[in-house]
Amino acid sequence: MYILLMGPPGAGKGTQAEKLINEFKIPHISTGDMFRAAVKQGTELGKEAKKYMDAGGLVPDVVTIGIVREGLAKPECANGFILDGFPRTEEQAVALDGILKDLGIKLTGVVNIVVPDAELVGRVTGRRICKACGATYHVSFNPSKVEDVCDKCGGNLYQRDDDKEATVKNRLEAYHSQTEPLIEYYKKQGVYKEINGLQAIDKVYADVKDSLAGNN
Ligand code: ADP
Ligand code: ADP
Ligand code: ZN
Repeated sequence: MYILLMGPPGAGKGTQAEKLINEFKIPHISTGDMFRAAVKQGTELGKEAKKYMDAGGLVPDVVTIGIVREGLAKPECANGFILDGFPRTEEQAVALDGILKDLGIKLTGVVNIVVPDAELVGRVTGRRICKACGATYHVSFNPSKVEDVCDKCGGNLYQRDDDKEATVKNRLEAYHSQTEPLIEYYKKQGVYKEINGLQAIDKVYADVKDSLAGNN
């Protein structure tokens, strides 16, 4: 399965990706996670990406396309992957088509999780992530059993630097102006699937799987 997860910040891409990788045992390629890892390691890539992430803007296409090209060329991606948060611009989508063509891969589905802006601010500002394993929680909608402690591994939960209300507004703007137009792009390719992301996490997951099985 070669899946692309689309949707605005806070739509539930990471949450659904976590479920898909558990069930289907395929790699999760999240450009956001890759940038955050680079920031943590203090690499040149991390220093460059941080400037854009802190402002809620998009990291330049050349940088982003480069890391995805490297990631997808790894042997573990040959039998499937979940691409989460990429592409986010038309230039990235065109580049991805080229990368996949070179690898002889056809996308199984482009799954767009739709959630209105009014809901997204609360989702993003309440998001908490495990420092150790990366699991995602929400202080109200998907809380850990013990406050700030991961259910899965006991790690500490933290809030991303860019999950503050002021930055979220810019990220939503970037989504609407640069990423949303990709819906038309993938509709034309006949691989586009739309999911109602306002439902409970497990219902969203059931719909994601149905859409990939061609039942939607
Ligand atoms: P979210 O899960 O809230 O949608 P991500 O973790 O996917 O956020 O991305 C965090 C930030 O990393 C983005 O706001 C952006 O600055 C940068 N980023 C991630 N993916 C891309 C991409 N495909 N193109 C450009 N910037 C990206
Ligand atoms: P994205 O990767 O698209 O930015 P996340 O998967 O990180 O989104 O989810 C954003 C926040 O919303 C997290 O705190 C997550 O626990 C919560 N969340 C995800 N899906 C749902 C849902 N269907 N209903 C309520 N909250 C959700
Ligand atoms: Zn954990």
